[in-house]
Amino acid sequence: HPSAPTLMMNAHFASVGEDAGKEEYEHGIQVIDEDKVFNAHLNNYLNYENIVPAGFNYHLISVFGSQSTGKSTLLNYLFGTQFGVMSEQERRQTTKGIWMSKNKRDTASNSMAENILVMDVEGTDGRERGEDQDFERKSALFALATSEVLIVNIWEHQVGLYQGANMGLLKTVFEVNLQLFVKDSKTIPRSLLFFVIRDHLGHTPLQNLRNTLIADLSKLWSTISKPAGLEKSTIEDYFDFAFVALPHKILQPEKFEAEIAKLSTRFREGYNDPKKSGLLDEESLPVFLPQYHRRIPADGFSVYAEGVWDQIVNNKDLDLPTQQELLAQFRCDEISREVLVAFDEKIAPLEDKQAADATIGKPSVLPKLGEAMNTARASVLKNFETNASRYHKGVYTRKRAELESKIDARLKSLFQKQLNAAHKAGVEGFTNAVSAAVKGGQKKGNGYDFAHIVETEKASAIAKFEAEAKAVLIEGAAWSTYKQELNLYQKELDEVSSKLRKEEMRRLATRVERWVRSRLDESIGVEFNKIGTGRGGSGAPEHGDRPASEKDLWDRIWTIFTETVENAESRFTDRARSFDASPEEVEVGLWRLRRKSWGVLRAKIDEEVMEGNILLKLRENFEDKFRYDESGVPRIWRPTDDIEGMYTKARESTVTLIPLLSRFKLSRTSAPPPLDAWIGSAPESVSPADEEDLAPIGGVDEDEGKSLEEEMTILSDAKQQDLLVRFKKTADGVYVEAKRSAIGGMTQ
Ligand code: GDP
Ligand code: MG
Repeated sequence: HPSAPTLMMNAHFASVGEDAGKEEYEHGIQVIDEDKVFNAHLNNYLNYENIVPAGFNYHLISVFGSQSTGKSTLLNYLFGTQFGVMSEQERRQTTKGIWMSKNKRDTASNSMAENILVMDVEGTDGRERGEDQDFERKSALFALATSEVLIVNIWEHQVGLYQGANMGLLKTVFEVNLQLFVKDSKTIPRSLLFFVIRDHLGHTPLQNLRNTLIADLSKLWSTISKPAGLEKSTIEDYFDFAFVALPHKILQPEKFEAEIAKLSTRFREGYNDPKKSGLLDEESLPVFLPQYHRRIPADGFSVYAEGVWDQIVNNKDLDLPTQQELLAQFRCDEISREVLVAFDEKIAPLEDKQAADATIGKPSVLPKLGEAMNTARASVLKNFETNASRYHKGVYTRKRAELESKIDARLKSLFQKQLNAAHKAGVEGFTNAVSAAVKGGQKKGNGYDFAHIVETEKASAIAKFEAEAKAVLIEGAAWSTYKQELNLYQKELDEVSSKLRKEEMRRLATRVERWVRSRLDESIGVEFNKIGTGRGGSGAPEHGDRPASEKDLWDRIWTIFTETVENAESRFTDRARSFDASPEEVEVGLWRLRRKSWGVLRAKIDEEVMEGNILLKLRENFEDKFRYDESGVPRIWRPTDDIEGMYTKARESTVTLIPLLSRFKLSRTSAPPPLDAWIGSAPESVSPADEEDLAPIGGVDEDEGKSLEEEMTILSDAKQQDLLVRFKKTADGVYVEAKRSAIGGMTQ
């Protein structure tokens, strides 16, 4: 089994133009030297001759024939080349190996095809290289693998010499052709065998010479061994033939040159005509038919030729489709690298910017990123297609997909990071915009519609995100969608909205609490002040009874309190509903409000029963009873008055206030108000944050170890005792003063 074909990967493209010079390439380039070494600078030459960018628009001709039959001379006249020719005197072989040169004729003036390359192949006739048939075979293989046209150069007098050197050469060509092209029968390229008959004397018409040659070739074809299944094949299945006869160059120089000029016009582009195969007998038919072209793109020719030669020279099985595939891989990779340079120049700075932003933790939305990505992507793919699509379709398609996924991986990352930046900036912008609008509303003082603010800002944040996302969509890339990202974005905006709404709820709660405080401050203060009057402002106390204002003090306080909070609750609910707070959020808010309000009330009561305050009120209460008569008229004490009796009565009446004030209880039930039931248990949705700033309430928060009784204890026993002592002292003072005034009134 033959070893796998390989491609020589010399530095074909490394030194393009460096050592290319007029002088060096004056005689063309020696593609293969006499030691069968391939010239690594072939691409330099093709570059120098501007063939590399030609795509398929070039032609390759090889000339074969015995040594010293004027081959190089013919090429030099026909194509203006400067291949070395044997001097008339020396008669030594000049052309060694295989030379190549570009057509130097002015192609425009005689309608010759553009970019004709000619290969001058070392001739064999056994004189110089003797029995070395090896090179003949190798060069024939090489020429057939690369060339569209094989010029066979023979003397007129050799025509019909069936045993001659030319027949040996042609036999080799035929065998090699079968070896090369029959494997893959679908893509057998035809070749043109162009016989140039030299030193045509003119006695025998070209037509006769042609018939003789064709007869000999057919005979030759019949003798070569063919692969199974192709035994019946004819020579015309693989070759077209053309013939031309040239006069003796030395004897008829002018005629020779005139015929050469005529011949040159045949090296023009032909058109594919399916009916036109086999013999091309008309003398003016074009030489370059499309079906002869080997379809190796010019920029891959040197790599291909080297790979082919490597296989040939190492006697490996030369498999052209494999060679073409290897070439395609090599060139597609190279083209890929080339086109990526421009892509990289455009894209890398953007990637760097994103990376720098990421390291400082500040992703930014890059302006015009979408435009840059789209043009970079389109141009990299277009450039790749332009150059690489000439190569093996399967390989090209695969390499294109590779390239696409390579660039798309980078573009995708840019795209994603841009969306992330847009997301982050959008959320931040939204938060700030809502806060600013709320602040603006607060400043104006005429209130604001929180729900409307959130709705408006959310819509504009989404519009902005969508615009930014649309701007970075990549045309023709299926992955480039932002649906999922938009969903995430909307979700986060919703989350932020609910966070902002919670803050707004807190602000609302604070406002409502403040309102509760100021209302309770006033109304509870009024209730306590009534104690001072001792009559509740409602005339004379009924005998032996507490005035109504004293007896139901706590009932009224509870009522005022619950009504005030109820009012606050409905304010809170209305407002919270207006900005779409959820029922759960409202429930938590109200629960908090009730607890906080209780705290407010409790603090207010504590303030009212502070030592100084309550003592003053007791004294006022006592004095009111002691110093005023039933009609509210101040008493003028006389010695006859039962001052002591009245003192005792008033004092005892006031003293009973102390235990009354000491416990918050309702007169109807003689029990504390149902604070626990009124506050209610904590809603399901309450969060630790909601409870953080709440003071524990006895009897409500069971695990606090404080009972409702304790919560409702306004004055402890010790305090009561202390208050009693102090009050009595104060009352005593008033009594002494009254006694004195009575005596004083008497002495006056
Ligand atoms: P090559 O070895 O086939 O490339 O032959 P060359 O081009 O080097 O020519 C060999 C010799 O043949 C040279 O001395 C030429 O002058 C001579 N020569 C070239 N063309 C012709 C021709 O048309 N007729 C004859 N008789 N001699 C020619
Ligand atoms: Mg020569």
